[in-house]
Amino acid sequence: MNRQRRKRRLLRGNSTDQSVGRYTCPTCHERITVPIDRGGAAHQQYSNDCHVCCRPATLTVTIDEHGIQITAENES
Ligand SMILES: [Zn+2]
Repeated sequence: MNRQRRKRRLLRGNSTDQSVGRYTCPTCHERITVPIDRGGAAHQQYSNDCHVCCRPATLTVTIDEHGIQITAENES
């Protein structure tokens, strides 16, 4: 008989409000997925290096009841 103990509860009681957002890289126009901290501020701005073309973009993240919106701009 095989005993399998695969059931594991992750971070019980600690809401894992992390999700992902997507944006289109302003340099190479690839769709990029980034992790979003939904428990964080409703409005966040940070820079992210595109994993396709390695160019940094400034992301403006807005979180509301409709979901996550990301605007990406080229960094100058
Ligand atoms: Zn890119």
